[in-house]
Amino acid sequence: MSLSLRLEVDLDKIKYNAAKVVELCHNRGIAVLGVTKGFSAIPQIVIALREGGVDGLADARMENIFELRNEGCLESITLLRIPRLSNVDNVVKYCNVSVNSEVAVIQALGQAAKKMGVDHQIILMVDVGDLREGIMIENVLDTVRKVVRVEGIRLVGLGTNMGCFGGILPEYSNLNVLVNLGKMIEARLGVPMEVLSGGGTSSLLLVERGEIPPGINQLRIGEGILLGTDTTNHRIIDWLKNDAFVLKAEVIEVKLKPSVPIGNIGRDAFGNIPEFTDVGIRNKAIVALGKQDAYIEGLIPVDKGITILGASSDHTILDITDTTSKIHVGDELAFHVTYSGLLSVSQSRYVKKVFRKDKIWSN
Ligand SMILES: *Cc1c(COP(=O)(O)O)cnc(C)c1O
Repeated sequence: MSLSLRLEVDLDKIKYNAAKVVELCHNRGIAVLGVTKGFSAIPQIVIALREGGVDGLADARMENIFELRNEGCLESITLLRIPRLSNVDNVVKYCNVSVNSEVAVIQALGQAAKKMGVDHQIILMVDVGDLREGIMIENVLDTVRKVVRVEGIRLVGLGTNMGCFGGILPEYSNLNVLVNLGKMIEARLGVPMEVLSGGGTSSLLLVERGEIPPGINQLRIGEGILLGTDTTNHRIIDWLKNDAFVLKAEVIEVKLKPSVPIGNIGRDAFGNIPEFTDVGIRNKAIVALGKQDAYIEGLIPVDKGITILGASSDHTILDITDTTSKIHVGDELAFHVTYSGLLSVSQSRYVKKVFRKDKIWSN
């Protein structure tokens, strides 16, 4: 039996995580969008999110959204990356809601919606400090005035994003900016703000602590549900499962080798000059896994006695000296994935996906 390089996905754990996050948020009056971009919207995983009770789906890629619709998905889908001006027809056709920050794009979305005889809903993104997408706070009122005039568009609320470019942490104060802007828009312009979308996984900590400003009524959660981690706050979320995804790769060589290469050092396979510290002879293993398959920095050996020394396109070299388990050629080694690791393996055609549901494994 050939052991393919594969990503094992425990759908029961993902469903569990989704249900726990939904329960926490619903208790605070917050809806949860299940974010599907971290796993390229693989249908089996989308179903697990749905079974966990998420209130809608969200993705940043139109390719993923086309696939969701082709699979027969009828749920509300929010486009999380501000739309491309050249792609507004597809956005209106396939997404119920999109997040936006450019008036020219919103006008084009409006024209497309009118042509199709529908209303397209938008959330206006406000930049409260992370400096990724969004309107600067002082320009919000003006922008809303322009947006509410656009036919075919229904402005449903405001959103913000943190912890992405600038690494800014969500806090009561910066999220409350969104709440106050919403109140001001309602008071001054009479436009009801149905949705105040307060960020992704990094905002969950505020919900747990009861510190999320009242009024925030939507979060868009990917990483937390999938991996049970919160990279921005640098924490493992201890009430969620952290091992729903495991990558397995086959050992193709095990040998004692020196820790420093022998000969004159030029460049490695990727043009870098490698550096080594001499720690003597080490027991090393190579697995059939490389940079062509996965973002290696996004993998963590499950066995804590194993460390990744490096990788080329098709080989990953491991130091197995300190593990207590005996490793042979033909064995499989398991790796946890980080968010960036998951992004890479979920869309790699070299990595087979297998799913566990109701304790049964299947493709
Ligand atoms: C990716 C993304 C999210 C989800 O972030 P997680 O940290 O995975 O929860 C939320 N909102 C926007 C706009 C995104 O691009």
